[in-house]
Amino acid sequence: MATLPAPAPDFPEPDIAELIAARPHLTMHAMDGLVLDGVPLHGIADALGTPAWVYSAATMRRRYNALAGALAQAGLDAHIHYAVKANDRLAVLRVFAREGCGADVVSEGELQRARRAGISASGIVFSGVGKTERELRLALTEDVAQLNVESAEELAMVSALAAGMGRVARVALRVNPDVDAGTHAKISTGRAQDKFGIPYAHAAALYARAAALPGIEPVGLAVHIGSQILSMAPYRAAYSRIAELVRTLRSAGHRVAVVDCGGGLGIPYCNEPAPAPAALAGAIKGALGHLDVRLMLEPGRWLVGPAGVLLASVVLTKQETGGRFVVLDAAMNDLARPAMYDAWHGIVPVSAIDAAGMVGPADVVGPVCETSDTFARHRLLPPLGPGARVAILDAGAYGSVMSSSYNARPTAAEALVDGEVWSVIRDRPRIADLWRDEHVPAWLAV
Ligand SMILES: *Cc1c(COP(=O)(O)O)cnc(C)c1O
Repeated sequence: MATLPAPAPDFPEPDIAELIAARPHLTMHAMDGLVLDGVPLHGIADALGTPAWVYSAATMRRRYNALAGALAQAGLDAHIHYAVKANDRLAVLRVFAREGCGADVVSEGELQRARRAGISASGIVFSGVGKTERELRLALTEDVAQLNVESAEELAMVSALAAGMGRVARVALRVNPDVDAGTHAKISTGRAQDKFGIPYAHAAALYARAAALPGIEPVGLAVHIGSQILSMAPYRAAYSRIAELVRTLRSAGHRVAVVDCGGGLGIPYCNEPAPAPAALAGAIKGALGHLDVRLMLEPGRWLVGPAGVLLASVVLTKQETGGRFVVLDAAMNDLARPAMYDAWHGIVPVSAIDAAGMVGPADVVGPVCETSDTFARHRLLPPLGPGARVAILDAGAYGSVMSSSYNARPTAAEALVDGEVWSVIRDRPRIADLWRDEHVPAWLAV
């Protein structure tokens, strides 16, 4: 087999039956094949072609309510602001909006999307290390609930803009607690060397400065240490540092009404043990529960990751001396996580007959001209001939939103399943759409 780096698990690989059994929205039917909630995935693939993303609305709702329930059960005054960047499709945002969920946005585009999907400005938190003047102006005009400010420079910018507009910005300072989240380096955000947040040692002084600035109402603190976090220890460490800062600020006479606990809760891509929402609620309660602060959470992946699959078809299987390559019609331009983060995703045949076949190792790859276009290596899969369909699991977060049209491949269609019904929520662009916004200068006319 190829000897290049590629997705590899750090946990024993579950087989196909174990992957399905651990995902309540998926079942394998002898006739219909893989069914997502009440809808056979073959039917969606027949209608839309492949590759195609399919999301389970029921799973998103179930997860939102499980998390909200765990927070309430712990007696916490907490509100969930879905991190829009994980999956920003209007229909997905609408599912959460209807549950009463707010939004955490990081750009003008996300702010507009959230508003468009029906999330009120009073439910929106604006985060991000490099908000532009234009974005801050929009946030102030819309009067979003909170701006999470990440630097002294940004604080000065917000103050000048807000004062000039006759507004008062409710600001939380995002603190970098210098805690290692124990996740992939590319998604760690809370270490001192990461670009995010205000250094812990400077936060109290900056809070005092914020209180004195025109156009600024400091309301509290925010922290977000990374993504795909699978243990509670880094959360506990970060939250106890924040609690200490709340006490310091209050003893200096400042009002601290809010702590934004960030996101980052991990999901079991490989059926590995993963923390339940009650564990996160317990960590928050333990560190912050006695402080009488309003709490916010900004989960993204945890809410939507398990809810999505990427459907793909086998183009051909290459039998080489080194082994078997299963070449799909989906690629790294669709799902970038394996290429970008060495991520492991379950891969399950859509047909029950395929799923029952004798397994052997295969490299599952896309057709893009990059060796990193590899979804899985040495994966135990049954024979998969041309046209066989597979579902790449847990692709609901950081999937379609990271897609590109590299290799002039149109992005894949997207569909939402809700119980027995399903609907297209984003069309596959036509090939001609790929150059719709391009211009060939007149001097190059043929
Ligand atoms: C990305 C991000 C989140 C969401 O992270 P998940 O790992 O998807 O939960 C929350 N808050 C901030 C500030 C982020 O940058």
